[in-house]
Amino acid sequence: MAGLEDLYQELILDHYRRPRHRGELEAPTFSVDQDNPLCGDQLHVTVRIADDRITDIAHSGDGCSISQASASMMSDAIVGHTTDEVLVMIEHFRKVMHREVAADEDVLGDAVALEGVNKYPVRVKCALLSWMALKDGLVTRIVEQKEGQ
Ligand code: ZN
Repeated sequence: MAGLEDLYQELILDHYRRPRHRGELEAPTFSVDQDNPLCGDQLHVTVRIADDRITDIAHSGDGCSISQASASMMSDAIVGHTTDEVLVMIEHFRKVMHREVAADEDVLGDAVALEGVNKYPVRVKCALLSWMALKDGLVTRIVEQKEGQ
């Protein structure tokens, strides 16, 4: 029988080969570019928000299997959630990657499979790239909204 590590490995490969939410949204609420020079990962994320809820997200760019799979898993996990919920999810994933908490599948969905990456500090930045890009975009939006009031 396949162990959990094997199942997780398969899940990561599956998201890498058949990325979910790949592409670019037209007329997004915001877009973010972020790269990880250590590995050469480049990511472009477009996000659509309605009534403070993420209704759609798309990611494009090039990178290693971890960064690509992570963007796909994150996109799957966050769509339909409010921006506040998504910020909590991002923080949970960040803590998992820094080995501060154990991964909660209910929060992360398929991204729970990335937990093992936290044993490889060099790859943690690859896994975090899309999550930190989204966080940047969300936080920037919150700041702009506050300034606009
Ligand atoms: Zn990478």
